[in-house]
This record gives sequence, C-alpha cells and structure tokens, in this order.
Amino acid sequence: MRVFTASLATETNTFAPLFVDRSAFEGGFYCPPGTHPDTPTLCSAPTVAARRRAGSEGYALFEGTATWAEPAGLVSQEGYESLRDEILDQLKAALPVDIVLLGLHGSMVARGYDDCEGDLIARVRALAGPDCVIGVELDMHCHLTAEMVGGADIIVAFKEFPHTDFLARAEDLLELCLKTARKQVKPVSAVFDCRGLAAFMTSREPGRSFVDRLLAMEGQDGILSISVAHGFQAADVADVGTKVLVITDGDAAKAAALAKQLGLEILRWGQGASPKHYKPEEGIAAAVDLAQPGKPVVLADRWDNPGGGVAGDSSVMVEALLRHPEIPAAIGALWDPVAVSLCRAAGVGAEIPLRFIGKAAPSSGRPIDAVVTVTGATADLLIPFEQSWVSLGPAAAIRIGQLDIVLASTRAQTFSPPVFTDLGIDLGAKKVVVVKSSNHFHAAFAPIAAQVLYLDSGGPYPPDSSKIPYTKVKRPFSPLDPNPWL
Ligand SMILES: [Zn+2]
Repeated sequence: MRVFTASLATETNTFAPLFVDRSAFEGGFYCPPGTHPDTPTLCSAPTVAARRRAGSEGYALFEGTATWAEPAGLVSQEGYESLRDEILDQLKAALPVDIVLLGLHGSMVARGYDDCEGDLIARVRALAGPDCVIGVELDMHCHLTAEMVGGADIIVAFKEFPHTDFLARAEDLLELCLKTARKQVKPVSAVFDCRGLAAFMTSREPGRSFVDRLLAMEGQDGILSISVAHGFQAADVADVGTKVLVITDGDAAKAAALAKQLGLEILRWGQGASPKHYKPEEGIAAAVDLAQPGKPVVLADRWDNPGGGVAGDSSVMVEALLRHPEIPAAIGALWDPVAVSLCRAAGVGAEIPLRFIGKAAPSSGRPIDAVVTVTGATADLLIPFEQSWVSLGPAAAIRIGQLDIVLASTRAQTFSPPVFTDLGIDLGAKKVVVVKSSNHFHAAFAPIAAQVLYLDSGGPYPPDSSKIPYTKVKRPFSPLDPNPWL
C-alpha cells in the first residue's frame, strides 16, 4: 500500500486588513518533504499519525510539504497556487497511491478562491483517480463546503475547542482510510446545514457532554465518524455556517437522519451555549472580586485573538488596566515586533520611553506611549500547546507600575502560561491576567486560575454575526434571517 500525506492550512478572516502571501507560510510553519518534526502541529497532525503507523501497517509513506500560516486576512492568489501546485507535483511524483491524507483547515480563502480546500481536494482527486481513498482532517472552524465533502471520501474535524485533539482525530482519520482502502468499510457521508452559526466550547456545558456523547457513538451501529463544523464567522463566503457531518458504513439514510438530529440539538441551545462576556471595566472588577491569594482570574480577550485572524495588538485592555494602577495585573502576548527589538536592544533592567501596540491596523486602537522598565527578553519565546510547540519569536516583558506586559514578534495566541513565566512574570502574584486567545488558552490556564472569564472588548474580530457585512452567504442564514429549522 502507498500513502501520500501533505498539509496546507490557514484560517482566513476576510475582514482583516492583514494580507498573507507565500512568505507568511514560510515564516510560520513550513516543512518540505521529510523535514516535519516528530511532534504534530494542529493541521499537520496527519503527517505525524501516518509516520507512526507506517511500519506496523506495512505501507510506504510519501510525505509532501506541510505548511501553516497564522490566521490573518486574504491569501494572495500566487501564494495559494504556488503552495498548492508544490503539493500536487509531489503527489504526481508519488503516484500511484492508495490513500491521500490531507491536513487542511477548511476556512482558507485566497484571492480568486473562496474555497481553497475544495479546489485542492478536487485537483488531488483528478490526479489520484477515483479509487484512491482521500482522507481530510479539518479544523472545526471550517466552512465544510459541498466541494470538500464531495471530493473526499472521509473528512474528520477536530471535536474539541480548545483543540486538544488534533492528533487523536488524525489517528481516527488514518484508521478509517486504512479500513476503506482494505474494503473493510464503505464510508457514506451526510451533511446537515444548520443555516446559521451555532458554535460552542467543549471546556464547558452543554458542549462537553455533547462531544463525549459523539465520541461514544462512533464505532457503534455502523457510525464511523461524526464531525461538527462550527464554522468561522469572520469570512464573507457563501458556505459560512455550522454543519454536522456524519459518516456511516454504507447507510446514507442513517447518516442523514443522525446529522439532522444532532444539528437540531445544537441549534436549540441558542445563546445558552455561550459564556457571559464582560465589558473591560466590568471584567476587571469581577476579576478583582474573584481572585484568590496566589490565584489570579484569567480574562480572555477573545476578540483580539491572533488565532481569529486579527492583529493581536489592540490596546483596549492595556488602557483599561492602566486606569487601575492599584491592581497587580499581567497581559499578553501583544504583537509588536518593533517595540520588541527596541526593548531587547535596551536590555533587561533598562527604563525607556516606548511607543507600543495599537499600530497594526485601523481597528487596533491607539498606540500607547509610556516610560517602561524592560523586565525580560528572549530571542525566541517557545511555548507548549498540547503535543506541539508554538514560537512567538523574539519577545520582551515590560512593566509599568504593577502591570506586566508581554510583547512578541510573531503573531500567535496565548496558549499557555510560559508566555508569561518564561519571561520571569509571577502569575501567582497577580489578581488579573489577560490573555489574547479565544479558548485555546483554557486547558493550560484553568489550573492556575481562580476563575476564567471572557471579555467583549469590542473587537477588532467581529463578535456579533448579526452585524457582519456578509455579501455572499446563502440565505436564509441566522441571525440575518429567522432560522428555518427552529
Ligand atoms: Zn479552530
């Protein structure tokens, strides 16, 4: 048996004025054939899963390029096409193959391509032929188009948000592809389109119990796989929205019925699946009340999360914390490569006048001018996220009064406490810790937090889907229209 694997992924916020070209992939995560590390990353997990079983399953593995760019705005046409064609050329050289495993995101948009993944899968099919088993792993924040589902044999999306299961889902995908290639199962997919946005977290109820139930259903009664595509709302594409994908062993009617049942269940939660969102002042006040000795309250600045494609240099929460010099607090990581280079050159211990953050986009707020003390610096802030390592590049910590601020050179969300602690910041001495992340921070920060609260600091990510200027979405679509299923 011959297996080919490759990965091409980013999440495109079509409203963000941060443009992506090939160099953003090369500077993000770019592994030509054979150079992928032993540890998996989010979307390239199929490469690692396929490597680990090649020996025991006795297949020849052909690795193509695996690459990922931090979520941002539109990808250039040349950038997408050059990476796509690089992978297709590698596939051509490996043919014939029995299985193609792709690690994609599912919400990559390039100039001229609203559905990059659908385009890539169709081209893979044209090369690999109708008998090749094409398996695709997607991030749950995908658009799950008919082109993706129709072009692939098996699609498996992450189930967990935070995404703690990217390797486990890659292993599920590989297992199903092997069984399909060996004619042990005949996968049939059905999709239920919720006709709206119904995202949820699995770090809290009702999402937690729901996903536990999905995991228990898989492998029973001919149900091979269940994926909930939550969708990614910051994208003006026709297929934006939440969808449920069920794959059964040859039973199309059963797949369709279960997908609909599960989709309706999610829709009926409505806003009940979302946590409360605090305005900046309200969030800081609540955090001070709830903090315990040695345990801060962690506030998630959800709408300035680089993982959602925005800059991650919004000054709103820094300004709010500076209004409360009596509160020991920390915030990070904020993107400002220029300020980082100035701080590192000045050196740890230096007191310098600094203009920082609030610069990358019109939606970033105002830059902040202050005299700061440089308290920490590193050539590479490397932090863990589940089984993977994420680099925030050169970074610095600065202090104003009792406020510690982490500045980083690479846009990446605040996955885990080493963003602060590796730069010498003692989180146990703080009452308030603000993280630039939507929910991926949760698994690593919850154990050190008295409580986790979510902020609505006003953007720049568009938090309210009823106010997003969509022009392409298929109607009806809630909340723009009443939901047709409710
Ligand atoms: Zn995601």
